[in-house]
Amino acid sequence: MDKFTQNYIDGFMADLLRRNPGEPEFHQAVHEVLVNVAPYIVEYPHLMDLKILERIAEPERVVMFRVPWTDDRGEIRINRGYRVQCNSALGPYKGGIRFHASVNLSIMKFLAFEQTFKNSLTTLPMGGAKGGSDFNPRGRSDAEVMRFCQSFMTELFRHIGQDTDVPAGDIGVGGREIGYLFGQYKRLSNEFTGTLTGKGLGWGGSLLRPEATGYGLCYFTEQMLGRAGESFEGKTVLVSGSGNVAQHAAQKAMRLGAKVVTLSDSDGFIHDPDGLDEEKMAFVFELKNVRRGRISEYAKKFPGATYYPGMRPWAVPCDIALPCATQNEIGKADAEALIKGGCRCVAEGANMPSTPEAVALFLENKLLYSPGKASNAGGVATSGLEMSQNSMRVHWTKDEVDAQLRRIMSDIHAACLRYGEEGDGYINYVKGANVAGFIKVADAMVDQGLV
Ligand code: NDP
Repeated sequence: MDKFTQNYIDGFMADLLRRNPGEPEFHQAVHEVLVNVAPYIVEYPHLMDLKILERIAEPERVVMFRVPWTDDRGEIRINRGYRVQCNSALGPYKGGIRFHASVNLSIMKFLAFEQTFKNSLTTLPMGGAKGGSDFNPRGRSDAEVMRFCQSFMTELFRHIGQDTDVPAGDIGVGGREIGYLFGQYKRLSNEFTGTLTGKGLGWGGSLLRPEATGYGLCYFTEQMLGRAGESFEGKTVLVSGSGNVAQHAAQKAMRLGAKVVTLSDSDGFIHDPDGLDEEKMAFVFELKNVRRGRISEYAKKFPGATYYPGMRPWAVPCDIALPCATQNEIGKADAEALIKGGCRCVAEGANMPSTPEAVALFLENKLLYSPGKASNAGGVATSGLEMSQNSMRVHWTKDEVDAQLRRIMSDIHAACLRYGEEGDGYINYVKGANVAGFIKVADAMVDQGLV
């Protein structure tokens, strides 16, 4: 990298750190994009003069609010709610809501920033946002979750709308939570609109939305493998997490002929050397989505499997890893273990699950490696399809949605190839996704003037 570009990067980061102290995840996400798009910005100096990336890194609006609610014992609880509306150059703000104890401003800002580029990659008209709360639904009764959601929406509703900002689910926010949030939104706004996505099938939801992130991840991985003359057939696959994305990634990988041997949660992971099958998958769906149990129960039910408390799955030998739990779940030592265990492909279902040190190792070792903003974009893309169906008041079949999801993932893959191919033919998917995502947002911002 030439000195001018390096100076630009250093100056940009110094300013970002000074203005946003104590936000390590946000710094990490911006730095990753900056390193890839800086050479492009230097090549097109009007983007530097117009401070396009500086503007993207300053959210258009951040809302933080109190969420008071009452637990089942009558005790008053206080949580903090967030909505970070990062960028609306391409369409209404769009991005999930996360309920998890770890939620803070840094994590919200990193996710909203990532979402802006991801949504751009989908080619659908959606800006980028993210929201959530440090509320942890784990162990809470349905009534408590409902009261929390209603209180959260009582403030959020004034900041969102079908043409303004359309939230969806994320960690800790699935069909149950979207239902309660939508009910309260409808009551407060006195309108039945498509303001949230991930809705129930009977009241405006799209077929395949729950499956879309995990399925889309596998379609994208198929494209990566296909270009290298490979497929899922006969491959050993590690999946982390056991929530929405992990479940559907595991199911689709299995159906495409892979042997999926791990799943996890924040307490540990299970290793099933025989691999998942339809019966075991059905157990996982029931365990996680109906009983809201822990993944350790899998090893009790299926004695061929072993539960490893307090550990991550990355030391298990594999061909392909699909991290689908949370940010920074693959550190340097995990990446080393993956490579040592024979892993040749890492495709991210979660957002930023690999630390910068892990990503550097994947790229150095020329793994097929794709960042979440490319490979997990199928979820938000299908949310975009849900918005279209709501606006047109139509309901597409599963096959119609699946065909569109496949096409979008294939288009994102092609965009990564366009901007990510290196001299030796290696595809740097991080660079490809960052540059392709940036160009569209940047061009729209140039057109729309200084706002
Ligand atoms: P869920 O809440 O359904 O599942 C999250 C899973 O990850 C659970 O198994 C959870 O375990 C585990 N997990 C959460 N936090 C941690 C942690 N700190 N350490 C280890 N495990 C953890 O969420 P989703 O499946 O929806 O989301 C998973 C990832 O995918 C997130 O990064 C999300 O941003 C991303 N994503 C989701 C999309 C969607 O459509 N839902 C779209 C695009 C990206 P436990 O039960 O113990 O908390």
